[in-house]
Amino acid sequence: MAQKQALVLGAGGFIGHHLVHRLKSEGFWVKGVDLKYPEFQETDADVFEITDLRDASEVREIIDQKFDEVYQLAADMGGAGYIFTGENDAAIMHNSAIINLNVLEACRLQGIKHVFYSSSACIYPEYNQMDPENPLCSEDSAYPAAPDSEYGWEKLFSERLYLSYNRNYDMSCSVARFHNIFGPYGTWDGGKEKAPAALCRKIAQAPDGGSIEIWGDGEQTRSFLYISECLDGMTRLLRSGLSGPYNIGSDEIVSINTLARYIMQIAGKEIELRHIEGPLGVRGRTSDNTLIEKDLNWKPSMCLRAGLEQSFKWINEQVKSQK
Ligand code: NAD
Repeated sequence: MAQKQALVLGAGGFIGHHLVHRLKSEGFWVKGVDLKYPEFQETDADVFEITDLRDASEVREIIDQKFDEVYQLAADMGGAGYIFTGENDAAIMHNSAIINLNVLEACRLQGIKHVFYSSSACIYPEYNQMDPENPLCSEDSAYPAAPDSEYGWEKLFSERLYLSYNRNYDMSCSVARFHNIFGPYGTWDGGKEKAPAALCRKIAQAPDGGSIEIWGDGEQTRSFLYISECLDGMTRLLRSGLSGPYNIGSDEIVSINTLARYIMQIAGKEIELRHIEGPLGVRGRTSDNTLIEKDLNWKPSMCLRAGLEQSFKWINEQVKSQK
């Protein structure tokens, strides 16, 4: 049987880099594409093209064959410190929308049927996420739409774009809404890092008995999915031929203060949490996995703590090697 061919767009990023590794271990021939090489480890891709996906003619050049699987992960994104300040709104909307327009059209022209698109939990309306104990994030609660960031609005637009191509061009693209994916080999400093990585870094850098800053009162809630679980969910979804959108996340909901305490326990440090003003996002959010469990028989298997141990270990090593 001919070797299966996969294309990973955004292969220099956190999830894309791990996905290339996974697809290689499954026996695929893989082309990775990004503006940059992966930051912390060599890529396993057979071919890695440095390409700006905002350029339609470059996109048509790299989508040069009928790949069996295409994963579109490239986006202009970051954690709360990047998405919620308002300073990056125009770039986020323009860059990510044009990438999706270019990629999907080039796939259509190449006769590619299966494209996986990574949307986000950030599409869910703010009005359903005011209660930190009881946020509503079932797939059908997305409308009437009211995301709390332009990042979320762009994701919602692009979800609709992929589903429109399914409807009008006989494609079967799959859309997932990721909820806070974390793990080693992800951004851990510089302003684009997300809460688990930022807290691992702060706790790794703080002396035992010291203190760290937490944005807001720390009672805002979230759930976090370990990277290997995300890869299981996304490959299963693409191969199912189902279009979704489906949540891919964990339903183990914790406050940011609790997240910090878990990491302190892993680090073996007692650290004071100093609450300061900062960009926050919604008050509460977690993944509702009812639909994906029913349709795909998928749900995460690891507890948050187990994933945090892996992440902290890696970030702690990065912090130490910087000194
Ligand atoms: P990431 O930022 O690490 O990876 C995105 C990659 O896209 C980066 O390597 C970046 O260089 C690349 N990219 C950006 N603009 C590009 C361009 N013009 N041309 C080529 N490449 C370009 O993010 P990630 O955490 O790996 O997330 C992957 C996808 O999943 C993104 O679409 C993101 O919005 C979505 N998502 C992620 C999370 C999460 O928790 N990590 C949550 C929800 C949704």
